[in-house]
Amino acid sequence: MRLETRAIHAGRGIDPATGAVSQPIHLTTTFERAPDGSFPSGLIYAREGNPNRNGLEECLAGLEGGEAAISFASGMAAIHAVFQSLRPGDHVIAPNDIYYGTKALLRDTFAGWGLRSTFVDMTDLAELRSAVQPETKLIWAETPSNPTLKITDLAGVIAIAREAGALTAIDNTWPTPLLTRPLELGADLVMHSTTKYFGGHCDITGGAIVARTKAGIAERIRTHQGRSGAIPSPFDCWLLLRGLATFPVRMRAHCEGAATVAAALNGHPQLTRVHYPGLATHPGHAIAARQMSLFGGMLAIEVAGGAEPAMQAAARLKLITRATSLGGVHTLIEHRKSIEGPESPTPDGLLRISIGLEHPQDLMEDLLQALG
Ligand SMILES: *Cc1c(COP(=O)(O)O)cnc(C)c1O
Repeated sequence: MRLETRAIHAGRGIDPATGAVSQPIHLTTTFERAPDGSFPSGLIYAREGNPNRNGLEECLAGLEGGEAAISFASGMAAIHAVFQSLRPGDHVIAPNDIYYGTKALLRDTFAGWGLRSTFVDMTDLAELRSAVQPETKLIWAETPSNPTLKITDLAGVIAIAREAGALTAIDNTWPTPLLTRPLELGADLVMHSTTKYFGGHCDITGGAIVARTKAGIAERIRTHQGRSGAIPSPFDCWLLLRGLATFPVRMRAHCEGAATVAAALNGHPQLTRVHYPGLATHPGHAIAARQMSLFGGMLAIEVAGGAEPAMQAAARLKLITRATSLGGVHTLIEHRKSIEGPESPTPDGLLRISIGLEHPQDLMEDLLQALG
């Protein structure tokens, strides 16, 4: 089955008890044992598994092309479980412009636990190679990066990790498996904040890890989840499966809208830069063209004059919503530095835009009137 078909059929089926086409939501926390003590459905207790979660995980594994998927209560819970499956003394290499929550987790939480980390410019493979240590067990990558949409050569990163005997984990939240296929490139783990394009409507918080193989780190992550309990609720799993059915179609429209808006804003006199990997002037364009089938639904603009004029432009928007997050049907704009804090390397005048599913012409008109 192709991706679009899997998005609708994987992990679902007609309910055998009622013939229902849409799956029932199973709210039970526990499942009956047979008189001989066995568990006929394979289900025991809801922290370990539930029919809605199992269906969701089957669909997620199918979309990324992995053997196993583990779904979580949030993207951060999924990331946490990956690091927790390593050992104190292990070393992790991650991009210096990694999602700021992941950076805080490595630098503040896991450093105290003895997990060491080095942050590098992941677009520079020589710098990555020189950061490898004998204890390097995991290389984390994220492309396009947040919020300046830098492009990392995933095949290059994976080759360096293999040489080093380290695993690779790719945060594939932004491109999604419609655009980029890390497991096919040889990555070991793919991570998602399902809060974003997979959910697609800004109404559910979730995360997932998809693993190339069932054995090894995937087993440790699942065991850790069973103990720590960061599971999604049956209703969240149901909502997410519903959102996933339309994700490939939505994603194409997000990408088309973003490409149109980026092209229209590129060269605007009030902007010093437009960051979008689909633009031929983007420094990562050639690699993006190779490893992405489309260029994504996210872009960033830098308003001339810094934070003040950027905030003022955002304040003049009438249609576009000023809010954090991404991947939903509404177009969202955000002054990124004020969310990430004063230590963030994000430029002062940068506004990040998640293109929604409104007509691109309406979005362009709103942005042009706000920029003046
Ligand atoms: C949102 C996001 C996360 C964190 O996920 P939550 O669901 O908010 O916990 C991690 N990585 C990327 C790239 C994200 O956009």
